Amino acid sequence: MRPNILKMAGYVPGEQPRDGEYLKLNTNENPYPPSPRVFEAIQKNLTSDRLRKYPEPLGDSFREAAAPILGVAPEQILIGNGSDDILTIVTRAIVPEGGVLASLTPSYILYKSLAEIQGAHFLTVPFTADWKIPSPWPLQAHLVCVPNPNSPSGTFFDPTEVLRLAQESGGYVVLDEAYADFAPTNGLHLAQGKIIVSRTLSKSYSLAGIRFGFAVADRELVPQFIKVKDSYNCDVLSLAAATAAIRDQAYLAEIKAKLIRTRERLYNALLELGLSAIPSQANFVWCRSSGLPNQVIYQKLKERKILVRYMNYPDFGDGLRITVGTDSEIDSLLKALREILS
Ligand SMILES: *Cc1c(COP(=O)(O)O)cnc(C)c1O
Repeated sequence: MRPNILKMAGYVPGEQPRDGEYLKLNTNENPYPPSPRVFEAIQKNLTSDRLRKYPEPLGDSFREAAAPILGVAPEQILIGNGSDDILTIVTRAIVPEGGVLASLTPSYILYKSLAEIQGAHFLTVPFTADWKIPSPWPLQAHLVCVPNPNSPSGTFFDPTEVLRLAQESGGYVVLDEAYADFAPTNGLHLAQGKIIVSRTLSKSYSLAGIRFGFAVADRELVPQFIKVKDSYNCDVLSLAAATAAIRDQAYLAEIKAKLIRTRERLYNALLELGLSAIPSQANFVWCRSSGLPNQVIYQKLKERKILVRYMNYPDFGDGLRITVGTDSEIDSLLKALREILS
């Protein structure tokens, strides 16, 4: 066993209880069903031939369908078994053992595990008080991973800031756009040179169970990443589902508009309850209490079968990250919070 593996704690995913037991507002899943086209596409692929044979290694049908929608070339797209797979592939390809993977803080905690597995140093830089990238960027890194919108804060910075980040850090940058579909703009057009944009179908497309993500990168980089990935990292059914989902942009626009309306309602209601909350550009809202401890609120919600994410960062403190559900789900949450806080 490599010493770095023995030493590391390992990434702990959010709680995933059995279906139906809890109202799940803890891991940013979409409360709305996937596009009806997704079900048709999966059904169509449930044939002996499709299941018997290996899937497309590079996911060419997905790449060809997605490229014109994203405004990039098919050769710029790398498919992944969820965007966590994309982050793994990029880290393995870029960060040497003993090298540096950096991130902002507080942010997505998987980046740390990826650095530890790689035997690399993990360094963090705090966001500025208004949730921007510090200027100048203070350290050199082989790779900097930065989500935009950020988790857990839901905050958003001007994506063109990553151009400066790549220059000042001297390395590659992953712009992790897991939540970009809920934000006003995105950085897809920046996916050139040393900037890699990562996307997932887990959140905005309601397909967390399918495991599909992708990267958009410079066409010179993609062949290097392909050497690192598993030959068949995405299966027949997830490729079919993802291709159908990304083609249905009208459906995406519809559920996105609903979620954004509910997000604003949730944010205002949290303030009315006396909690402090951060305005969000994602499908969740970060809040904290100045009275009852956040962890107690989390526990009391759990007793009422409502799961939110309790998080505690050494350099930022603790709070609750609440996923935007349907309007009636958020009504149930707010009713429970009112009881707990009164
Ligand atoms: C959810 C999330 C991911 C991972 O998404 P999957 O495609 O489900 O692996 C990546 N980055 C951030 C910031 C996320 O919140």
